[in-house]
Amino acid sequence: MDGGEAAIRYPWAEPPEEGAVTRIAEGVFWIRLPLPMALNHVNVYALDDGDGWTVVDTGFNSRRSRAIWQALLDGPLAGKPVRRVVVTHHHPDHVGLAGWFQSAHGAELVTTRTAWLFSRMLTLDDQDRPTAETLEFWRGAGMAPDILAQRAQERPFNFADVVHPMPLGFTRVAEGGTIRMAGRSWDIHIGNGHAPEHATFWSRDCDLVLSGDQILPSISSNIGVYATEPEADPLAEWLEACERLSQFARDSHIVLGGHKLPFAGLPARMRQLIGNHHGALDRLMDHLERPATAADCFAPLFKRKIGPGEYGLALVEAVAHLNHLRKSGRIVRHRRDDGAWMWHKPGDG
Ligand SMILES: [Zn+2]
Repeated sequence: MDGGEAAIRYPWAEPPEEGAVTRIAEGVFWIRLPLPMALNHVNVYALDDGDGWTVVDTGFNSRRSRAIWQALLDGPLAGKPVRRVVVTHHHPDHVGLAGWFQSAHGAELVTTRTAWLFSRMLTLDDQDRPTAETLEFWRGAGMAPDILAQRAQERPFNFADVVHPMPLGFTRVAEGGTIRMAGRSWDIHIGNGHAPEHATFWSRDCDLVLSGDQILPSISSNIGVYATEPEADPLAEWLEACERLSQFARDSHIVLGGHKLPFAGLPARMRQLIGNHHGALDRLMDHLERPATAADCFAPLFKRKIGPGEYGLALVEAVAHLNHLRKSGRIVRHRRDDGAWMWHKPGDG
């Protein structure tokens, strides 16, 4: 509509090798850590504060990640201490080693209050089997009976399996604040929707933006609803955050996100992030000519086949889009006999 993808540029064609750093600008370095998933990496950043480093996001807590970090600290990061770890949001690929940097390196943890509360709560929430509430939520979403039965018998994903224990205490950042890193002042703006109270950092002194997963190139950040807050409307929060953050976007910005490559062309990308979801909502409305469960909505939402490895993320994203349509008055729902919600246009079914 407005040039879209053509306006987005990638100044670095290749990511840094494992155990190496890529210099982005004076005192700002890009690092990659592996993830054992379809999305097989996370980007983290080291910012030179003179007498030590600020690390932005951390990777999973695993023996392999810790060994890579140790090699980085001994090698390219020149043996200087990590004095601060800044965490953009509470997801495990970002917060996984924050507690390790705190307890093993004496670093200060800087993050939002919600990110800290969620992270610490989830590290303490050990589950051997899915909770009754989670099973009820999956049933409501129309999860296929065979998948539901199998999952009920399995140990679910536990946050603590990939996130290091977190000691008490952190330093809070919030909307409108600033922070000094790598000899620059950074404005703090808070996003929402992918994770609640997601911090982003916008340099006042150069064109760099540290965006976490709030702003990513080429892939869409997962917007999900979970059993913890089954009536949530994170898509409304996502769209609000995108509109608000768009005001700060300049074409010259170099955006350093949590996944994929650094990019320029932020105003165009912000329009895509908003437009993609409006497109998905419109396709969903067409699909709901007939009543459907959340699990019946993958085809119009994702326009591709969803494999077993993506099923969970696809399901929570489908519920997010349906909750949003319902909260905005475009659809209603009723319970099927098996407990699944059937979503449909008012007056049907
Ligand atoms: Zn991430």
